[in-house]
Amino acid sequence: MEDYSFKIIVIGPAAVGKSSLIRRFVEDKFVFNYKFTIGVDFFSKYVEYEKKQKVRLLIWDIGGQDRFKSLLPSFYNGTNGALVVFDLSRAQTFPRMKEWLSDMKQLIGKKIPVVIIGNKSDLISEIGEVIDRNEPSKYAKEENCLYIETSAKEGDNVENAFIELTRKIIKYINST
Ligand code: GDP
Ligand code: MG
Repeated sequence: MEDYSFKIIVIGPAAVGKSSLIRRFVEDKFVFNYKFTIGVDFFSKYVEYEKKQKVRLLIWDIGGQDRFKSLLPSFYNGTNGALVVFDLSRAQTFPRMKEWLSDMKQLIGKKIPVVIIGNKSDLISEIGEVIDRNEPSKYAKEENCLYIETSAKEGDNVENAFIELTRKIIKYINST
């Protein structure tokens, strides 16, 4: 599998932490400033999804603004899997994340492996729970996705999210 590479996209509303998650995973860093992503950024990293089993992930990052949505059909081409992200500290990002997921399904036209990410889990202890977390779990089950809560700031579960997505892709490929 070492010479396999998978294209992974990270999508969802603005400012939910998509770029921070990628940066944490690729560079193990967290940078506390907000930059709109203009166009597409591209990253690459090997991931060990099982002991001594590696694949290369090609990770595509796009700005979360609606005005970039018109770019998306080419962005989605050849995608093997997606992380679809919302922000656990802003309730309105959850329904908006669902729109991103359904747009993606429509544009790709077939099912692909997806992991739904509730990011900024570190903020829950500060501001309390603004989203009933049974909702994303339930939704993920209905959509046949995994649901994982992460903190790009603390690094919690970030690598795990990419590994779980990779495992889902491998399973999917082996089943088709
Ligand atoms: P994007 O627009 O989805 O790519 O979001 P960014 O990665 O640019 O992050 C938006 C803002 O949220 C920035 O100020 C980040 O520092 C902050 N942020 C991202 N992830 C986390 C996290 O896990 N915890 C906290 N507390 N802040 C985060
Ligand atoms: Mg970004």
